[in-house]
Amino acid sequence: MPRAFITGITGQDGQHLAEFLHGKGYDVFGMVKGQNNPRMTMMRDEFPFVEPVPGDLADLPSLVKALEYVQPDEVYNLGAISFVALSFNQAELTANITGLGVLRMLEAVRMVGGNTDNGIRFYQASSSEMFGKVRETPQTELTPFHPRSPYGCAKVFGHDIVVNYRESYDMYACSGILFNHEGPRRGYEFVTRKVTNAAARIKLGLQHELVMGPLDTKRDWGYAGDYVKAMWLMLQQDQPDDYVVSTGETHTVEELVELAFSTVGIEDWRSVVRQDPKFFRPSEVDLLIGDATKARTKLGWEPEVDFPTLVQMMVENDMKIESDKLRRG
Ligand code: GDP
Repeated sequence: MPRAFITGITGQDGQHLAEFLHGKGYDVFGMVKGQNNPRMTMMRDEFPFVEPVPGDLADLPSLVKALEYVQPDEVYNLGAISFVALSFNQAELTANITGLGVLRMLEAVRMVGGNTDNGIRFYQASSSEMFGKVRETPQTELTPFHPRSPYGCAKVFGHDIVVNYRESYDMYACSGILFNHEGPRRGYEFVTRKVTNAAARIKLGLQHELVMGPLDTKRDWGYAGDYVKAMWLMLQQDQPDDYVVSTGETHTVEELVELAFSTVGIEDWRSVVRQDPKFFRPSEVDLLIGDATKARTKLGWEPEVDFPTLVQMMVENDMKIESDKLRRG
């Protein structure tokens, strides 16, 4: 059975990818950091097939030990400080984990065995946030980067170092430039989940208002379950390469809010939504829309879940979670 090692296993994408690879017959290993990691109970309950392996993206020897133990065929580096707003307050930590963490992981792969001939194949989670103040629309693999946050800057370093290691050391290393991807497992700090959860809670009378940042920014939102397939496909090709993964559609935050509230039958969403400067960022990415032609043609990848279906799926999930909580008291 092929063996996969995933960093960021407890996050949204780690969970989807673990499930997907398990379904394909992989032995799945997930890197878990820290003593007594609070998400381990959830992992043990929901993903009993994942073997946890200790390690930390800030600690190269721990990565080498983890890879020596796992002997993976594929490494997926999904671990990061991933919330843009937090990256402004913890910029150095973000640079260290989201940026330098990629370099450490590549070094570990190289040390344990990462040449193209039957070596470890490496996937890096690059991000549309690298495009930032976009230089062209839609964005492709060739669009220049102009990041607008410490997170975006760290992801640009990660992306560039993957290209450099591929070219310098003949490694099978790929970057997926993934546009925003969401779903029922999305963290509550991200705008989609914050909105779908608030719509459910307001409908159930558990919350009275939703406090937001900008409503006019635009994102290309897809479904995380679709996007992890693209990650895997990238590692099954003859040659390593970088790919944009996106839906090719963009929507404003306002459209997201309107749709989420109308799903629970609240048409007058403006009466419960207010804006607060604390949710505005020092610099913003105004518009993202990706052109995934290369992924569609070379990988045969297609997104299956569209924006309205995604929002509905997330609202229904939050209605269920919040109603269950209400019933239990
Ligand atoms: P990002 O694209 O990785 O930054 O994903 P987010 O889901 O965190 O944010 C998407 C967009 O929603 C950004 O333009 C945010 O500024 C905007 N936004 C507006 N209000 C909020 C809010 O209350 N929370 C978050 N997370 N984003 C918000």
